[in-house]
Amino acid sequence: MTDSKKLAEAVNKRRTFAIISHPDAGKTTITEQLLLFGGVVREAGTVKGRGSSNFAKSDWMEIEKKRGISVTSSVMQFDYQGKRINILDTPGHEDFSEDTYRTLMAVDSAVMVIDGAKGIEPQTKKLFQICKMRGIPIFTFINKFDRDAREPLDLLNEIEDVLGIETYPMDWPIGMGRQFMGVYDRYNHRVALSHPQDPANPYLPLDEDGQVIGENPLAGEGEWKDALDGMELIEMAGSELDEEKIAKGDQTPVFFGSALTNFGVKTFLETYLKFAPAPSAHKTEDGKSIDPLAPEFSGFIFKIQANMNPKHRDRIAFVRICSGEFTRGMDVTLERTKKPIRLSNVTEFMANTRENVENAVAGDIIGLYDTGNFQIGDSIYTGKQDIKFEKLPQFTPELFVRVTPKNVMKQKSFHKGINQLVQEGAVQLYTGYNSNDYILGAVGQLQFEVFKFRMQNEYNSEVIMEPLGSKTARWVDPEQLDPKMASSRNMLVKDRYGAPLFLFENQFAENWFKQKYPDVKLTAKL
Ligand code: GDP
Repeated sequence: MTDSKKLAEAVNKRRTFAIISHPDAGKTTITEQLLLFGGVVREAGTVKGRGSSNFAKSDWMEIEKKRGISVTSSVMQFDYQGKRINILDTPGHEDFSEDTYRTLMAVDSAVMVIDGAKGIEPQTKKLFQICKMRGIPIFTFINKFDRDAREPLDLLNEIEDVLGIETYPMDWPIGMGRQFMGVYDRYNHRVALSHPQDPANPYLPLDEDGQVIGENPLAGEGEWKDALDGMELIEMAGSELDEEKIAKGDQTPVFFGSALTNFGVKTFLETYLKFAPAPSAHKTEDGKSIDPLAPEFSGFIFKIQANMNPKHRDRIAFVRICSGEFTRGMDVTLERTKKPIRLSNVTEFMANTRENVENAVAGDIIGLYDTGNFQIGDSIYTGKQDIKFEKLPQFTPELFVRVTPKNVMKQKSFHKGINQLVQEGAVQLYTGYNSNDYILGAVGQLQFEVFKFRMQNEYNSEVIMEPLGSKTARWVDPEQLDPKMASSRNMLVKDRYGAPLFLFENQFAENWFKQKYPDVKLTAKL
């Protein structure tokens, strides 16, 4: 076998995805079940035990343990049925959506978890839209059917209406809540019982007409009849399963289940693996497409995280490999500086340990121990061809604070902390145009709180944050700028690349400015 054949085989085994959901829909519970099937964790309850010492394996940081929220994305890898699965965890809290958005740039498909009683919630919608924009396949798991949920048809209609994606139910719930008896598994041609008489055999096979072969313990139940009616309606009026549409993100296969009682997750995983795409091509800024099977190595950094291991105070740059193969000790070019860098200190992620990685291929995520060389969005590659991957999405912050060190003698740790946390993308940094003011911008208040906590915990720097409230950031052409245009209602600052922008107090202040300086062009994003 040639090397390129081996590479193709390895790459085509990879399935890299993220789970998106509104907080509390059940993402952690499902992740835990998946890890259980993958043999990564041995008992349920090890991923997130809120309020217990057994903290979430996917939640590394102290603050996450304390608050029970998942602040940062982490990576989990396991093998299942011949596939190597990489799950990228994403924070559910909306204040960290920027982190989540960047993570979604590093996956090939997404799993959307919906609470069966609540349907589409605000965060589901936002995250879905990013996946849709990327055109990646989206698979839906409607969870918590062991509790009272909404009617399945109602939920499917909501997905179609609110998210604008066609649904294809792969199965159909039989009852719900206490009467949840299982699902009519249309795709796998069987009925899966949630309370089978023989736990080793929870399935009833179906004949060609969709009738149960042999004895059907549910035959007399009203829920069974309702499920058949629902299925019949869908067969007549619903869409056809269309692999092409799934691949483009125009149709979502929908599964029903209950993660907490571990019902439906395995079927979901196994069916998902039949449809989920292998690593896809990634676009470069100049419009080229990098084939995952290309022999040269390439990748981009979608996340930087400091101090995942408090004992070592390390910083890790997360790289999505887009093509070729990584081998330990290889030399790559860092696109931003065009300088060579040797990748010798690398980590692989698991739920319980971070083990050193010898080699990894397109689709995998590797973590590089970083001493300050990397920035979010950086591309790295081998070979002569310059590769710069498309820009990662960046949010324009809406909330601002002025930040100063509490102890003025501790400027050094203050600056070090700020610079590192800003490079990680935890918050955005602005400086006064004509002053040394440090102004931080964020999408949500919680980002500031995490920043403050980490400054103190990791850099031993207590900070004072003076809230400046919500503002509208508008960049201005330096050629047209006169510092006298600034006022208390439109602060003038520089971003971290030195580009000037105004922070307008409100729409009124912006309109006033536009009337006063009609020729000055303001832009929402750099
Ligand atoms: P996340 O915020 O999306 O990660 O949600 P979690 O997985 O932490 O779940 C939120 C809450 O819902 C927890 O109390 C879970 O035990 C519960 N939960 C998750 N899945 C189910 C389910 O299938 N049925 C029921 N009844 N509760 C569930």
